[in-house]
Amino acid sequence: MRKGMLVIISGPSGSGKGTAVKKLTRNDFALSISMTTREPRPSEINGKDYFFVTKEQFLEARDSGKLLEHAEFVGNMYGTPKDYVEAQILSGRAVILEIDVEGALQIKEKVEESISIFLMPPSFEELAERLINRKTEDLDTIVRRIKRAKHEIEYINKYDYLVINEDIEKTVSQITSIIDSEYLKPHRNKDFFDHIKGENYDASTIILRTNDNT
Ligand code: 5GP
Repeated sequence: MRKGMLVIISGPSGSGKGTAVKKLTRNDFALSISMTTREPRPSEINGKDYFFVTKEQFLEARDSGKLLEHAEFVGNMYGTPKDYVEAQILSGRAVILEIDVEGALQIKEKVEESISIFLMPPSFEELAERLINRKTEDLDTIVRRIKRAKHEIEYINKYDYLVINEDIEKTVSQITSIIDSEYLKPHRNKDFFDHIKGENYDASTIILRTNDNT
């Protein structure tokens, strides 16, 4: 069976990555659910959007090696539970991690075969508008998140792909194409190579068989 892969998606708050990721619903995709110490927003559900935990629970998970990566983002802690990701990759799925640049760099160091996509809104103006319009953060948090976004874009060149989110359907289709193309890379198809090399047909056998059928 084909092995799955890790797909990192980062981008500033307001880039639309949350919306894009929720639309990646193919059966061979799995969305990782992070752990966070942030307060849930009114629409968020524990165990679906995040595992909302206390600082103590987070530190316990981190210190007992249960997180694949972790980072602090604008005053809260976020981390990726390791077991789920590993199980999904083994079962052949592309596991999507929606994480910040700090976490992305940790994963890139640990998992050489991961792929990374940076999602940007078309402009900072649009980013600020999206943050203000979604009304989930107070003004101070919005300002901190925009500052953080300016810092994060310094890391774009460390990513494998840049997707500009002008239209959500186009963005989802671009991300899907990136993942599908990645599966076509020779090093991800080692089983196929081994199979082809192990086949002991030579041209004469095939010619004889063709002649028999005519
Ligand atoms: P938000 O509070 O808007 O849901 O997320 C804030 C930032 O934390 C976003 O950039 C999001 O991608 C990132 N984030 C969410 N989960 C994780 C995680 O498990 N690890 C890391 N490193 N960042 C995360």
